Amino acid sequence: DTRHGPILYMEDVSVSFDGFKALNKLSLYIDAGELRCVIGPNGAGKTTMMDVITGKTRPDVGSVFFGQTIDLLKMDEPAIAQVGIGRKFQKPSVFDALTVFENLELALKADKRTWQTLFFRLSGEQRDRIGAVLETVGLSAFAKERAGILSHGQKQWLEIGMLLMQEPKVMLVDEPIAGMTHQEIERTAELLLSLQGERSLVVVEHDMEFVRSIAKKVTVLHEGTVLTEGTMDEVQNDPRVIQVYLGG
Ligand code: ADP
Repeated sequence: DTRHGPILYMEDVSVSFDGFKALNKLSLYIDAGELRCVIGPNGAGKTTMMDVITGKTRPDVGSVFFGQTIDLLKMDEPAIAQVGIGRKFQKPSVFDALTVFENLELALKADKRTWQTLFFRLSGEQRDRIGAVLETVGLSAFAKERAGILSHGQKQWLEIGMLLMQEPKVMLVDEPIAGMTHQEIERTAELLLSLQGERSLVVVEHDMEFVRSIAKKVTVLHEGTVLTEGTMDEVQNDPRVIQVYLGG
């Protein structure tokens, strides 16, 4: 519901590493339910932006709010995850020796990420939630298989499922299709599109065809700040974007 302002609000955020400005007055406003793609050449500040949102990196100046009132700069990483900001890293980190179902079970009990938690019995409601997530990520048929047998793409979807177990309101997704086959890429586009609405997604991705297939709105970062925002057609035809990518 956008009448109440963005769900994620970043304003004039700057981050320096040894005097080098990785972010330079970056402002980003993500509406509830939207799927935003963030692109930009290497070194543009995309990873640093995600690190600031999740509390991994503290900005020198600027504001970062979740909703209207929750000041993320006053919270540590676990607290930020707790309010509903989830992050999926590029490399899948599922537990190969556990079944797909058990991986989701662990994610559900992520406050105690140890083997012992598997001995606590799940409630019917928790089982249903895992079942629903299995369906969402298209892995119902693999519930009892060890995660180690999954393809690279299936592992990525399992990891998205593990993130969904935490019921995030904002999902930060880093290069979701790296290393995927063409078919897996198409399936991932469908999955991400199906996830918007109930939650917001911020997707960092290099593959422009993929970005075009999922994003209504694209933010282009360059030198730590927003170069331009708009539809894929708008940004791709922007001379400044062409300049930045072609290095002209
Ligand atoms: P992107 O993800 O868009 O490639 P990054 O956010 O990783 O960009 O990096 C932005 C800039 O900040 C780069 O020039 C990078 O070298 C620099 N940088 C990122 N993290 C650090 C760090 N921990 N120490 C020093 N420099 C860093």
